[in-house]
Amino acid sequence: MPILRLIVTSDLHMHVRPYDYFEDREDESVGLAALAPLIEQARREVPLSLLLDNGDFVQGSPIGDVAADAFMQGESMPNPMIAAMNAIGYDAATLGNHEFNYGLDYLAHALAGAAFPIISTNLSAQAENAVALPSVILPRPVPGGDPVAPALQIGLLGLLPPQILQWDRGHLEGAVTVEDILEAAGREAQALRARGADIVIALCHSGIAGGAYRPGQENAAGHLGKVTGIDAIIAGHQHLRFPGSGEFEDLPGIDNKAGLIHGVPGIMPGCFGKYLGVL
Ligand code: MN
Ligand code: MG
Repeated sequence: MPILRLIVTSDLHMHVRPYDYFEDREDESVGLAALAPLIEQARREVPLSLLLDNGDFVQGSPIGDVAADAFMQGESMPNPMIAAMNAIGYDAATLGNHEFNYGLDYLAHALAGAAFPIISTNLSAQAENAVALPSVILPRPVPGGDPVAPALQIGLLGLLPPQILQWDRGHLEGAVTVEDILEAAGREAQALRARGADIVIALCHSGIAGGAYRPGQENAAGHLGKVTGIDAIIAGHQHLRFPGSGEFEDLPGIDNKAGLIHGVPGIMPGCFGKYLGVL
């Protein structure tokens, strides 16, 4: 039986190179570039692999500020993180809350350079502010399978915290609306199935929290396993690792050893390029 491997990053926060820009010194423990050899190895091991990012990539290190300042001064330069993600060959990415910190014009400019689809299911923007697709289906041939068999249709949806409307009100008021995470996920999972998706993966820039679900909840990924039609969950936003981080012990429905969210495979790959998630 062929294996589909999801190789994932989240919360890179503009850590492009293995460098601590605050301390101005090399730091091999961070940076997407330092993960590149691990990504290559993970791809070699499993031919049917997708490389996905789970959001919070354009802000968070001084390089992010430099790139945004350059745009505000009217300079046209490729976004350093998007350029790195293009070079490494991402298959898709979703948006995090921090993507909006410099405003929608800058975000649109940065994302225009992406060679891969950007998806955000619960973000709705007026046409002039559109920065992402609601979802995408990536067709991928199954290695070693019947060469005339149809490709596997991999559906991807993307989710972010509705709280962006408060956190970046100045940039977003009147320009975008955000739907509840579970509502959007349930609707789009069904829509992807109806469009022919064989499997559906949720890129969820949101964390795992205990307790009953409250509509509009910021950290909703721990409830996504209960949504019909979702086969895998990429979580983030908390900058933790799932499975494994102590914060996720003893939460109902969360298997912090096997990495299951209400029985659905899930992962949260830390932050800053310190870890690579492999599911
Ligand atoms: Mn983050
Ligand atoms: Mg975040």
